[in-house]
Amino acid sequence: MNILIVGSGLFGSVFAYEAAKKGHQIKVIEKRNHIAGNIYTKEVENIQMHQYGAHIFHTSNKEIWDYINQFAEFNRYTNSPVANYNGEIYNLPFNMNTFNKLWGVVTPAEAQAKIDEQKAVLNGKKPENLEEQAISLVGTDIYRKLIKDYTEKQWGRPCTELPAFIIKRLPVRLTYDNNYFNDKYQGIPIGGYTQIIEKMLDHENIEVHLSTDFFENKESLEEEADKVIYTGMIDQYFNYEFGRLEYRSLRFEHEILDIQNYQGNAVVNYTDAQNKFTRIIEHKHFEFGEQEKTIITKEYPSDWKPGDEPYYPVNDKTNNDLFKRYYKKSKEKKKVIFGGRLGMYKYYDMHMVIHEALTCVQKELSK
Ligand code: FAD
Ligand code: UDP
Repeated sequence: MNILIVGSGLFGSVFAYEAAKKGHQIKVIEKRNHIAGNIYTKEVENIQMHQYGAHIFHTSNKEIWDYINQFAEFNRYTNSPVANYNGEIYNLPFNMNTFNKLWGVVTPAEAQAKIDEQKAVLNGKKPENLEEQAISLVGTDIYRKLIKDYTEKQWGRPCTELPAFIIKRLPVRLTYDNNYFNDKYQGIPIGGYTQIIEKMLDHENIEVHLSTDFFENKESLEEEADKVIYTGMIDQYFNYEFGRLEYRSLRFEHEILDIQNYQGNAVVNYTDAQNKFTRIIEHKHFEFGEQEKTIITKEYPSDWKPGDEPYYPVNDKTNNDLFKRYYKKSKEKKKVIFGGRLGMYKYYDMHMVIHEALTCVQKELSK
């Protein structure tokens, strides 16, 4: 088959790699001037810079871990961000180190008692939004210092109007363990992520066209192909006919500094309301770098408007209901397969995207 893939991110590239191996002819079009979508990394000052935000690979699925390790060697990096709340430093995710610093408690039983005492404000109510979910997990002090302002900066709306599932991404532990993820496997590809996508797309059956927007030539591109894999915004594909889905965007402010070590950690979250950025990334620490200089990136969340990059779907009820209408319509188009974070309007991490793409290849190309 002639397969057109719209988007050279992780979803499109895994699909391209697998389909090319099966002998199909693949054309990948990408509107940016580089491959790899949001996992793109670029070498600057001998440091791998995560151009679109920090990306840490983690999974509990051995098949996915083995799969990604075909394309790069991973280091032993373990994500252990710290939170800076008006100059006070706390370990993340919420664990005994956090509870000890905040309340002086030493044992898990003391920490649990403190959380139980604080969550009593909910009177046993089942959490219905992010605020209630957060308080029921870690109590009111942590909610106020480490969650409320960070979340409201990130999502641009009150925690009472956000779905509870967002905060459930974070572990809460009664052990002294600062690992941000519970997964069995974790690391950063030595030499960056872009090489992974380069290797996936390096096949005689695959041609890649950069700086090419699908919508400039939609009809003829679709006509030429036997199948289309579309990883852009699903509402844009249907010309927003049911209305616009909401996204959150980000502005990245990169700085090269003439010092060796700026903040002593790869990720520092600013959980106060005054600093308008949510986090500062210091890229060299992902690879234990000892370069003379350092690069930092401040991450400023913003509302999405046409022309901005749509980094996060806003999976509240209104948007999910709207997505369902688009999804239903997408199923009527047999030739076009929708995938990835934007095509499926889901808060997928990288390991989930690989899993989805491999499942999709199986379904679509094994007939
Ligand atoms: P994308 O990477 O968005 O790729 C889609 C591609 O399609 C883009 O290159 C886009 O330019 C292109 N495209 C769109 N429309 C068109 C068009 N009309 N014509 C041509 N091309 C088009 N995951 C983790 O596992 N760990 C992390 O630590 C992590 N951190 C993250 C931090 C941030 C700030 C963000 C935003 C995401 C993070 N993720 C993380 C998630 C990860 O980025 C995604 O799971 C993954 O990149 C999604 O791949 P994708 O192919 O679906 O989408
Ligand atoms: N969060 C928070 N304080 C933090 C870190 C995260 O309140 O210091 C909340 C916030 O609502 C965020 C969610 O937890 O949107 C998920 O965090 P994660 O780090 O997984 O977000 P991502 O990496 O996807 O931006």
